Amino acid sequence: MGSQSVVTTAIGFKNRKGQVVVRNTGHRGVDLSQYIYQLACGKCGHNYGANGSDIYERKCPACQDGEPGFVL
Ligand SMILES: [Zn+2]
Repeated sequence: MGSQSVVTTAIGFKNRKGQVVVRNTGHRGVDLSQYIYQLACGKCGHNYGANGSDIYERKCPACQDGEPGFVL
């Protein structure tokens, strides 16, 4: 546990690619210990689902050539 830890699943968190956490969808992701979060792209406005563990490095599937998101 480092003092530098950031809560990347907090609502409103924006990663360095400009992807913003909108909400926890409450759905379990591929990894059952993870929830799927709704993210919104700060550049094009695209909304998509992503695993909580992927938020930190997530890129927009619409405008940043990221992996396809989960359908919400
Ligand atoms: Zn985008």
